[in-house]
Amino acid sequence: MLNKVLPLLLLCFAPLLLAKELALSFDDGVNPETNLAAKQINQDILQHLSDQHVTAIVFPSLIKTGTGEGLNLVADWGKNGHKIGNHSDQHLNLNKPEVTLTQYLTGIEQAQKSLQNMAGWTPRYRFPFLKEGNTTEKRDGVRQWLQTHQYQAGDVTIDASDWYYNQLFKQYSDKNDAVALEKLKSAYVAHVLDRAQYYDGLALKTLNYSPKHVLLLHVNAINAAYLGDAIVALRQHGWHIVDSDTAYADPIYQHKPDNLPAGESLVWALAKAQGHKGLRYPAEDAPYEKTNLERHGIWVQP
Ligand SMILES: [Zn+2]
Repeated sequence: MLNKVLPLLLLCFAPLLLAKELALSFDDGVNPETNLAAKQINQDILQHLSDQHVTAIVFPSLIKTGTGEGLNLVADWGKNGHKIGNHSDQHLNLNKPEVTLTQYLTGIEQAQKSLQNMAGWTPRYRFPFLKEGNTTEKRDGVRQWLQTHQYQAGDVTIDASDWYYNQLFKQYSDKNDAVALEKLKSAYVAHVLDRAQYYDGLALKTLNYSPKHVLLLHVNAINAAYLGDAIVALRQHGWHIVDSDTAYADPIYQHKPDNLPAGESLVWALAKAQGHKGLRYPAEDAPYEKTNLERHGIWVQP
């Protein structure tokens, strides 16, 4: 009996066994006091995740959510079974010389106070701009603080400039340009797939295996519109979507690369530490997207 069932089982589960894996993470959050669409954006993203049976993690920053109704929108993530991490209060760039270690750590504590009683709260820290410090003192000071306060890794392995595609999305939406929006949807989905494939390839070269990835996205209008399409496309291209705790259990997240300035995607940082040639800096930026956008019929100003 087993002789007959085993090959069948293997056939059924082979795609799963071979699948590359990633978790979705959403940074910043939105503030209904400054953005009329905030509530709808938050709701639409949660709906996409529910429709696609995906459990994700959100990393709110208080300057992005505000401390009023925006925090209720964050709490909705927890109520819907997602995790809530910490992305600081002021969204400071730790690589800037004027940002001090003390000021930065106070910002992490402040955000924790507002988030720690929410369902889904988990002590994971996501560095704003993925910048982890321009000096050894700041880099190691924050790492030490996080360890002392039982924080777990909140790294990104797949960085993607959804914030830039979101700027274009807002421009075309304001103009009600349905033709441009349709092109942008294809370009955006292709971009997410391309970045996932790129960082997985870089991980294979750097670590000799495909880790469980964490993809960086934001709570923004383009994901409210196209997240469902992006998830479907990822699955069609062999990606299995896991929850954030499953992804963060991968040994890659135990690494703390020695670079200065520190930060970026963890895969990028490990490749950098190994002396890998041809890495872009910053790893993701708007000008890099010109070719992809043009390929999808979108002309962008040079
Ligand atoms: Zn952010």
